[in-house]
Amino acid sequence: MFDYLIVGAGFAGSVLAERLARGSNKKVLLVDRRPHIGGNAYDCYDDAGILIHKYGPHIFHTNSREVFEYLSTFTRWRPYEHRVRASVDGQLVPIPINLDTINQLYGLKLTSLEMEGFFASVAEPREVVRTSEDVVVGRVGRELYEKFFRGYTRKQWGLDPSQLDAMVTARVPVRTNRDDRYFADTYQAMPLRGYTRMFENLLDHDNVKILLNTDYREIVDVIPYEKMIYTGPVDEFFDYRYGKLPYRSLRFEHETVNQEWVQPVAVVNYPNEHLYTRVTEFKHLTGQEHRKSSLVYEYPLAEGDPYYPVPRPENNELYKKYQALAEERSDVHFVGRLATYKYYNMDQVVAQALSVYARIVGQKRSEATRAEAQRPAAPTVLTPRKERRPAASVLAEAPAVRTGA
Ligand SMILES: Cc1cc2nc3c(=O)[nH]c(=O)nc-3n(C[C@H](O)[C@H](O)[C@H](O)COP(=O)(O)OP(=O)(O)OC[C@H]3O[C@@H](n4cnc5c(N)ncnc54)[C@H](O)[C@@H]3O)c2cc1C
Repeated sequence: MFDYLIVGAGFAGSVLAERLARGSNKKVLLVDRRPHIGGNAYDCYDDAGILIHKYGPHIFHTNSREVFEYLSTFTRWRPYEHRVRASVDGQLVPIPINLDTINQLYGLKLTSLEMEGFFASVAEPREVVRTSEDVVVGRVGRELYEKFFRGYTRKQWGLDPSQLDAMVTARVPVRTNRDDRYFADTYQAMPLRGYTRMFENLLDHDNVKILLNTDYREIVDVIPYEKMIYTGPVDEFFDYRYGKLPYRSLRFEHETVNQEWVQPVAVVNYPNEHLYTRVTEFKHLTGQEHRKSSLVYEYPLAEGDPYYPVPRPENNELYKKYQALAEERSDVHFVGRLATYKYYNMDQVVAQALSVYARIVGQKRSEATRAEAQRPAAPTVLTPRKERRPAASVLAEAPAVRTGA
């Protein structure tokens, strides 16, 4: 008899498994239909021995000390500040747009003080800011909007910025100084040995059993459990009763090249050329040293694995109907990006999972979050369609990451 059946071994499911097992001594069965733990944050070594992120680059950043300290129980960190360039007019320029972007693009020598004046001269302020187009044109004007945002957004979402909620582009700041970091969060770092190793440590508890390659519906009627935590798509849980919630998907094309470095930073965006939106070179993220380099090209798709909830008012309305159904199910907690149909980053999902745990145990989140330092034996990983082996061995055959840090 399990106390909890947890569907999905991504951040939401794994954090709850860890807390329930270690914090409350509950017995947990963690099920994922993929052949690995970690959800979309899963990383692994490719054939060349380079650590890659299977589902696209995952950069950890947060302002939450609580989340950072909680995860620090399960990993050491490699300091890393993310930088992105955009390929525009034949140049690679910093994005978010900053002083250097404007000076490089237009051959100017503006100072920080002059930048606000520059933006004021090109901006086309809108009385009502409703869409992504309103946000960007209102801040940087139509020309920069066309160069940096319109094409990228159309590729990424299959929609014009004028059709998307303001919040989508509100995530992209504009700077008047030379700060070219993509994120401004207090904590910016990558798990020293990778995400999968961190997940293995999270789940390293006798009370946590893991079943991979298994859709929960295959076992839900035969394995006894008390309560469920569900982190899969909420519309799928209710058999699409009100129709499908729209998601944007991606095709990831991984490649390894016979040269040490390809691009100056981890990610280069292509707003106007190519079918892919961006190219990531992993060694920038991981600090690994290798004479070859592995990259991933991201091609947005309308169909496929659900990655990004499409933030449009009608989709939120549809989600609310599923949310109402979910609220009626006192035996199931719906947690994570897919179950709550929200564009959450990893740290937000960790925070959400910690809050759900705090509610379950009736404590304040700060009290419920303390992960005791005890490190019990490796968990059993049940792999019904493959051989059985302990989770700790999953990366054992992979070479260690050599970090530059
Ligand atoms: C391309 C991309 C890049 C991203 N980059 C960043 C980034 O740089 N920084 C950042 O903070 N966040 C990033 N994110 C967001 C990050 O991936 C999510 O916040 C996080 O992974 C969400 O965790 P989760 O547990 O909610 O969902 P997931 O990681 O999606 O885990 C859900 C799991 O549930 C399983 N599942 C679903 N249905 C079933 C079922 N019926 N039976 C069994 N298992 C099931 C799935 O297989 C999956 O493994 C990115 C996301 C994408 C798609």
